[in-house]
Amino acid sequence: MVAFQCPTCRQMFHVERREDAPWRPFCSQRCKLVDLGRWLDGSYRISEPLSPQPPTVGAEKEAAED
Ligand SMILES: [Zn+2]
Repeated sequence: MVAFQCPTCRQMFHVERREDAPWRPFCSQRCKLVDLGRWLDGSYRISEPLSPQPPTVGAEKEAAED
């Protein structure tokens, strides 16, 4: 028995096997798409990155190549 909570509709679900819940942690494809839509909407957008981007040394080197 596997239990999980759908992040979209907040419902608890119990399935016999993991294979029975292909959309886990979502209960269905619909809930997965709803979550994806929130991301695209910007609702989950992270305002600031946790750490600054490392300098792109590799890109500069490639550009300097003659
Ligand atoms: Zn759901």
